[in-house]
Amino acid sequence: MRIINIAVDGYSSSGKSTLAKSLALKLGYKYIDTGAMYRAVTLFSIQNNLIENDYVKVNSLINTLENINIEVYFKSNLSEIILNGKNITKDIRSMEVSNHVSNISKIKEVRYKLVKQQQLLSKDKGFVIDGRDIGSVVLPDAELKFFIDASLNERIRRRFNELKRKDEKTTFIKVEQNIKKRDITDEYRENSPLIRTTDSIYIDNTNLSKSDQLELALKFYKMIV
Ligand code: C5P
Repeated sequence: MRIINIAVDGYSSSGKSTLAKSLALKLGYKYIDTGAMYRAVTLFSIQNNLIENDYVKVNSLINTLENINIEVYFKSNLSEIILNGKNITKDIRSMEVSNHVSNISKIKEVRYKLVKQQQLLSKDKGFVIDGRDIGSVVLPDAELKFFIDASLNERIRRRFNELKRKDEKTTFIKVEQNIKKRDITDEYRENSPLIRTTDSIYIDNTNLSKSDQLELALKFYKMIV
């Protein structure tokens, strides 16, 4: 069987990372969570006072980008993120980071740095990568591309339950506001916005279980390898 790269794009909390991880584990591929890399830059910006209220000090961030060292390493084939020597894989899941990440990820210079790194990491085959611009910008030649979707209500419900499990104090309304705002910022930003490429396979998993979704994706995978 030939080894390929798989791109998984979609809206926030659509279940794309669940699919991407389970595909990687099933196929023995490596999984890269590109959202985690944008979250790492966001965490750095919060820690270094580069965000005040909702306002990102864009020029200061651009000038300090070379001091932001993000490393990706693989633990059982799943990516872990190191920010300037510290593993921050868990710290970047907070609502605070979620609230600012789309304003950070729309900055051209940030995208340029991270896309270059993502392309370098996946220059060989055998990767499943999820994000917003994987099929369009990071891996336009990926042999298999998925665009994952679910109803807005279902996505809010999933994210809210995920945060609740982690004991994060939030409300359904706050999660709803965050997801709606991120969807709009990600879809309408100038630099590599979230798009559904014409060569991607669309999966709406609102009414699919995780295993149904994986089975469906594997069917498409088997058709092309
Ligand atoms: O996937 P996740 O929800 O963790 O991504 C967080 C944010 O990072 C997204 O809302 C988006 O603004 C940004 N992102 C991006 N391009 C990617 C992955 C994530 O702009 N490839």
